[in-house]
Amino acid sequence: MVKLAEWRGKELFRKYGVPLPRGSVARSPAEAEALTRDGTVPLPCVVKAQVLAGGRGKGGAVRFANTPLEARAAAEAILGLDFKGETVKELLLEEKLPITQELYLSITLDRTLRTPVLISSAKGGVEIESVDDAEIDRQPVHPFPGLTAYERRHAAKVLGVAGPVARSLDGLLAALWQAFQREDAELIEINPLARVGDGLVALDAKVIIEDDAAFRHPEYAEIRDDRTPLEEIAREKEIAFVQLDGNIGVIANGAGLTMATLDVLKEFGGDPGVFLDLGGTDDPKKVTEAFLLMAQAKPKAVFLNIFGGVTRCDTVATGLVAAMQQVPAAERFPLVARIRGNNEKEGIEILCAAGITATPGLKESVQAVVAAARGSA
Ligand code: ADP
Ligand code: MG
Repeated sequence: MVKLAEWRGKELFRKYGVPLPRGSVARSPAEAEALTRDGTVPLPCVVKAQVLAGGRGKGGAVRFANTPLEARAAAEAILGLDFKGETVKELLLEEKLPITQELYLSITLDRTLRTPVLISSAKGGVEIESVDDAEIDRQPVHPFPGLTAYERRHAAKVLGVAGPVARSLDGLLAALWQAFQREDAELIEINPLARVGDGLVALDAKVIIEDDAAFRHPEYAEIRDDRTPLEEIAREKEIAFVQLDGNIGVIANGAGLTMATLDVLKEFGGDPGVFLDLGGTDDPKKVTEAFLLMAQAKPKAVFLNIFGGVTRCDTVATGLVAAMQQVPAAERFPLVARIRGNNEKEGIEILCAAGITATPGLKESVQAVVAAARGSA
């Protein structure tokens, strides 16, 4: 998932003309002081930790400053802070606006309705999860016409704005809808959307880009932090590969068998470190690629749990042997195979001939791999 930090979300908003406070990013107390001293960020200002978790206001990660020295002190207090598991490395400094009301606005996908929804509430500034359902309005949005005058008027009513403020809302909604569609967003949230005089200003920005559209957004490649480098390579090769904390590699075919294998390993005192689901493939090229990836994850031992259904055990075994030979000798790992199903005898023979421990028994093979991982640990 690509979640954008507030400042990135606001950069995106700016492209579409969403009104924002004047501000700038700082990565050190000195920089925070300088930005306020030279007027890049007008005073008084707000100093905000750039972390993905919400609730910064309540958690002391949003502070106000009246002078450059106060901005510096606020930056010193926030930078390096551990906020809900994230270390604060960046700050957003923005002018403090005289707000008279805090509203809530977001566009997201409703997976039950299978359409985007516009969510609005006059109770902004607090986490939306804590707002009473009766005070949250949800309007489905047809993706072709987008947000029409009808939905915009309804939102104005819900938010309790009229006249020039409603006109400001109109423009803002059009901009948000465009941003939501063109940027492949899964969520665009403004909380609070602040009323400042006769206008509306986005004080906060939460943007999540739809994972399946991530390939269309190379600009976010460096901020995806939910995949390891190996998982990233695997994804490009369309291999289902996930890294965990343990030291035993698991290769199985089919998601169900893969998950069950992890459980069984745990049951016998093993510690799965990475798993790879071959799915329905026995394509030797694919299997080789998968093996090379597995080798790079440096497992202490690898457990292969193959069920031969449509894919025959002997074909899989042949592919595995060929693949193992491609792995450079220095990177090879102890391998225990459990082979069951269609042509299992032939499969086991092929593996044994290549020096790979292979049996149809689940318990004995799991025990063997757990021991192998311990032995070389
Ligand atoms: P979070 O959602 O993580 O708590 P916000 O960006 O929503 O962080 O900020 C928390 C609160 O700080 C807002 O509800 C608002 O009252 C106040 N605030 C944030 N930015 C400004 C600003 N530029 N001017 C005035 N008040 C602000
Ligand atoms: Mg907020």
